[in-house]
Amino acid sequence: MLDVAIIGGGPAGLTAGLYTTRGGLKNVTMFEKGMPGGQIMNSSEIENYPGITEVKSGMDMMAPWLEQCQRFGLKYEMANVEKVSVNSDGTFQIKFDDGRIEQALSVIIGTGSTPRRAGFKGEDRFFGKGISTCATCDGFFYKGKEVSVIGGGDTALEEAIYLSEIASKVYLIHRRDKFRAAPSTIERVKKIENIELILNSTPEEAFGDDKSGVQGLRIKTPEGLRELPTTGIFVFVGNNVNNSVLKDENGNFICEVTEHGEVVVDLNMKTNIPGLFAVGDMRLNAPKQVVVAAGDGATAGINAINYVMEKK
Ligand code: FAD
Repeated sequence: MLDVAIIGGGPAGLTAGLYTTRGGLKNVTMFEKGMPGGQIMNSSEIENYPGITEVKSGMDMMAPWLEQCQRFGLKYEMANVEKVSVNSDGTFQIKFDDGRIEQALSVIIGTGSTPRRAGFKGEDRFFGKGISTCATCDGFFYKGKEVSVIGGGDTALEEAIYLSEIASKVYLIHRRDKFRAAPSTIERVKKIENIELILNSTPEEAFGDDKSGVQGLRIKTPEGLRELPTTGIFVFVGNNVNNSVLKDENGNFICEVTEHGEVVVDLNMKTNIPGLFAVGDMRLNAPKQVVVAAGDGATAGINAINYVMEKK
C-alpha cells in the first residue's frame, strides 16, 4: 500500500512529490503518462516564475524538478492512470491502462487541463511560436505589437482587455454577431479604443515560418478574406479539464466537480472525499499558472502527510 499516489507529473504533481517525501513519507509514487514537467514543457519561453531572471524554455525550467524530488525518495513511474476509486475502508485503488492495480492511503491528483483549439490552419504548427492560450503567460512578449484574440466568452473578452494594456492593438475575432460574456465586460471592451471588434468572422490560417513564428492571420469575414498583421494570436475557445480518471464505470464523478468539470477543493486542496486532493489547473478557479500549480502541490503535500499519519 502506497502512502500517497500522485497522479500527473506537472508542476503541481512534482511539488506534491517534493513536499510529501521531504516531509517524511517513505512510500510515495508519482505516476505520469508522458515526460515529467507538464504542459509548460510546450512553451518556448517562461519568465514569470519567481526567481527566474532570464527567459527560459519550459523544458529547461522543468528539467531539474524530478531530480530534486528523487533526492528525497520520490518514486516515479511512467504510467497512464485509467481510474481512481475509493475502497470500502476509505483507501484508494488506482487502475492503469494495462490492467495493473495499486492501492494507496491517499491520492493527490494533478492531471491538468487542455485548452481547446479553434481548428484553423497553422494552429498546431505555430502553437507556442506565436499562438498561445494564455495572455498572462505570453502577453508581455507582444508589448507594443498587434495581437489577435479569438473567442467570444468571458475569458476571451477579459484577456482582450488585459492585452489591450500591453499590445498596440487587439483584434477581437468572434464567429457570432453577439458576445457570450457578461454585459459589463462587453461594455468595457467596447469602450477600449485599441480593441477592434471583428464579428461574424472566423480564423482561416496563421502564416509565418518556423524561425520567426507567426507573421499574420488570415480571417474569413462577411466582406471576404482579410489579413491581420499580428505576430501573436491568443485562442480562448474553452478548456477541457483532464478529469476522466475521477469517473466511475457509470460515468459519475467520485468527488464533487463544477458544471465545467473542475474539481471542487477547499483551501487545503481537499476534495469532499477524505484523503483525495486535487491540485493545479484541474481544480476550481485555477489561475492556470506554474507558480500556483506548484503552490497547490505544496499545500496538498503538507495536508496529505497529516492525513496519512493519522491513518497509520
Ligand atoms: P499540467 O502541467 O497540465 O500537468 C499535468 C500532467 O498530468 C501532464 O504531464 C500529463 O501528462 C499528466 N497526466 C494527465 N492525465 C494523466 C493520466 N491519466 N495518467 C498519468 N498522467 C496523466 N504558466 C505560467 O505560469 N507561465 C507561463 O509563461 C506559461 N506559459 C504557458 C505556455 C504554454 C504553451 C502552455 C500550454 C501553458 C503555459 N502556462 C504558463 C500554464 C502552465 O503550463 C500550467 O498552468 C501548469 O503546467 C499547470 O500545471 P499542472 O501540474 O496543474 O498541470
